[in-house]
Amino acid sequence: MSQTTRNVGIVYPGLKPPEKACNDRKCPWHGNVSVRGSLFIGKVVKAKLHSTAVVEKEYLVWIRKFKRYERRRSKIHVHNPPCINAKEGDTVLISETRPLSKSISFVILGILQQKGD
Ligand SMILES: [Zn+2]
Repeated sequence: MSQTTRNVGIVYPGLKPPEKACNDRKCPWHGNVSVRGSLFIGKVVKAKLHSTAVVEKEYLVWIRKFKRYERRRSKIHVHNPPCINAKEGDTVLISETRPLSKSISFVILGILQQKGD
């Protein structure tokens, strides 16, 4: 648990370290989780639980028979650190981490676009 902002090792346009600090051990900036693996952009569809959010991501799958892409969606449970505190409707950058709980192994790195922007 340190109050200094760590270097998460990811450079992405629009991604900045959070201005607030937090005491969350599962925060990628102030805690001790390391981010590695896949990186997604998604939209927060639910942020009601304490420091947890549900993020929906959209992806394309090529269908050979019709020679077209099909749009698919999936929802992922992610950790929402208190210093970021993403709200419903925000577009967020999420990254894979070690399993943080039974159903969570992704964490929000930052808000790329706030709702309504
Ligand atoms: Zn934090």
